[in-house]
Amino acid sequence: MSRYTGPVCRLCRAEGCKLFLKGDRCYTDKCAINRRNSKPGQAGASKRHSKQSEYGLRLREKQKLRRYYGMSEAQFRRFYARALKMDGPTGHNFLQVLERRLDNVVCRLGFGLSRAQARQLVCHGHFAVNGRKVDIASYIVKAGDVVSVAAGSRDVTLIKNNAEVAGARSIPAWIEFSADRLEARIVSVPGRDQIDTPVNEQLVVEFYAR
Ligand code: SF4
Repeated sequence: MSRYTGPVCRLCRAEGCKLFLKGDRCYTDKCAINRRNSKPGQAGASKRHSKQSEYGLRLREKQKLRRYYGMSEAQFRRFYARALKMDGPTGHNFLQVLERRLDNVVCRLGFGLSRAQARQLVCHGHFAVNGRKVDIASYIVKAGDVVSVAAGSRDVTLIKNNAEVAGARSIPAWIEFSADRLEARIVSVPGRDQIDTPVNEQLVVEFYAR
């Protein structure tokens, strides 16, 4: 399945929560969830209260998580398969590998105002890991890695503008950011309490385990 390219606020309204897909607008009163939290479509308001099956509940939670990280179903399943092979609770492992994606780290640092923008910046080769340019958005960082703006990309206007925003954003404790050097060190892999993704990951595990 290809990546969704339609209006993204519609996805938030379908899930009934903020997925932060549109950058700065998500933090303002213009956010569609703040203004009109009903399902998209003519019968939206009534659909919000319709009874949901157990399957439907798990499906929605899975879709919410997939859309939050902006991934195709095929790629999302590959990440899930990776989490299944890890020691410990699958749901936590799944969230942890999703958080460690390079595009997510760039977004968490504020260089990309949304995950989509962060992904584009990574794919255009504007970031490096441990001094080597990495243009793969799904690259998984590990503890001790250093993520930096690639040499030659420090003057890219978008990155410079976003870097100012980056300083004002709250960056999770598992990432140590140096605004002077425009680089971040991955202090540790994120614990569950350090991941604020609005999802019940156990429902996602139950969806794939069915
Ligand atoms: Fe749109 Fe962002 Fe609000 Fe979602 S959170 S409805 S993407 S403005």
